[in-house]
Amino acid sequence: MDAIVSLCRRRGFMFQSSEIYGGLNGFWDYGPLGVELKRNVREAWWRDMVTSHNELVAPPGAPSSFAMVGLDCTIIMHPQVWKCSGHYDLFHDYMVDCRESKRRYRHDQVQGRWVVKDDQRIFVATELVGAEAEEDVLHKALKFFGLRAKDAESLRWESPLVSLTTVERFDRVLAPDAKTLGTLTPPREFNLMFKTYVGALSGEENAAFLRPETAQGIFVNFKNVLDSTRVKLPFGIAQVGKSFRNEITPRNFTFRSREFEQMEIEFFCRPETSRAWYEYWRNRRYQWYVDLGLGRERLRLRDHEPSELSHYSCGTADVEYAFPFLAPGDFGELEGVAHRGDFDLRSHMEGKLVRQGDALAVEVGPDGQPKYRGSGRDLAYFDDETREKFVPHVIEPSAGADRATLAFLCEAYQEDEAPDESGKPAKRTVLRLHPRLAPIKAAVFPLVKKDGMPEIARDIYAALKPLCNVFYDEKGAVGRRYRRQDEIGTPFCITVDSQTAADGTVTIRDRDTLKQWRIRADDCPAVISGLISGTAQIPE
Ligand code: ATP
Repeated sequence: MDAIVSLCRRRGFMFQSSEIYGGLNGFWDYGPLGVELKRNVREAWWRDMVTSHNELVAPPGAPSSFAMVGLDCTIIMHPQVWKCSGHYDLFHDYMVDCRESKRRYRHDQVQGRWVVKDDQRIFVATELVGAEAEEDVLHKALKFFGLRAKDAESLRWESPLVSLTTVERFDRVLAPDAKTLGTLTPPREFNLMFKTYVGALSGEENAAFLRPETAQGIFVNFKNVLDSTRVKLPFGIAQVGKSFRNEITPRNFTFRSREFEQMEIEFFCRPETSRAWYEYWRNRRYQWYVDLGLGRERLRLRDHEPSELSHYSCGTADVEYAFPFLAPGDFGELEGVAHRGDFDLRSHMEGKLVRQGDALAVEVGPDGQPKYRGSGRDLAYFDDETREKFVPHVIEPSAGADRATLAFLCEAYQEDEAPDESGKPAKRTVLRLHPRLAPIKAAVFPLVKKDGMPEIARDIYAALKPLCNVFYDEKGAVGRRYRRQDEIGTPFCITVDSQTAADGTVTIRDRDTLKQWRIRADDCPAVISGLISGTAQIPE
């Protein structure tokens, strides 16, 4: 992971936000190459899910044909949106503070082991994971009991690594950064929504929130979309945009940030077909990552246990990736695909809902009135063919653009061997990004800076520019130029050499196979477009 992070900085994929002021934890900027990569991820998603979707035919595996449209909603919305959606009351994590180190931890992200020495039994806690966590706990236990490494056998371990959430006796806990016992405060709720104020006055009545997800903008516009377009059930509304969560412990590069981008679909369907649509979307979304290059051996589709489901969800599956910063065998969420029933539309009609037995009912306050009133608008759907009126059910595939970008980067990063300038095998860093995602699609080089080669190369560059993001480079040895492009994932390099003036052909080189072949200089735009879109193949 360190090598990936260092490449990202060195070649301008990502930087820490406000770095010259020491950075701001949980915020990341995308550099000149990173912005192209993330745009390509977003655009691939939008194109595959929305603009290239053909509503006239049922895609493979889908219960029927369906329509897809898009939206772009505001980040700050009416505060009642978050009260009715449940985020105001329920969108929190638990945190614990250490009185000694003054550090703050997310309760469920601290783990540790119970250990006994003589008659003292303590829980040694750590924020690390996997083998590093084991080592850290051992090291801390030795230090706490004043032992040397050779005395490790006098410690009696009573548990494997377990979560701090299983621990009741906080007076026995040695916190991750503390020297004495019992320094952690009891867990406290912490709402993850960022608060702000709308207008000149900063009183509570002007308080508003930065959205923690893009989904709610779609629900509150459901009727607007129905009334302004001719979409009929089943159909999906897609949105890409920034979301904000005041994460207690942002970490693992961009994986857990406080400002990030989501790519969400709310798919509306008839209740009796919702199971089949849920199955369709969970499979379709998994396949999307595979098609763009994530290896199946590092990607999984995990169905939630019934105990993990939100109170309204009838089924949720996460698409998860084995990020290299995780312990071996661990996976991190890329996307959640949830069957949300009619919870969201009903909440915005009736008010905040809670589960009562098997049903959902409006939560009431001490005065017997709804705790948070809904909009009162009728968000039901009228089916003109069957003459039925009902509240549609919703399937929600909710992906993170930053986590997807990070996963594609991690998957693409490889170190292998390729011949250097003198033809000797040498270590090479290469990003094997899918051509659709690569920030730069092709680089154009004159072999040397003379004999008319730069002029021809510039003409090819100019012809490619309107089609895709290309790069021109005439400095240094050509082998070194290839390597610089390999390192940032450019799939194809075009070189103008001494043969070009004679027969009008150039060399094209493939990043992954290192294969080189000749094409006509005039054909460069058609060949590059074909190779990127997958309609042309690298010759055998
Ligand atoms: P986690 O359990 O990892 O906090 P979550 O289950 O809360 O994630 P969702 O609410 O389902 O996440 O959000 C949908 C998607 O948004 C996630 O799958 C992830 O890709 C992205 N996402 C959520 N929180 C963050 C974050 N703090 N930083 C980056 N991406 C995020």
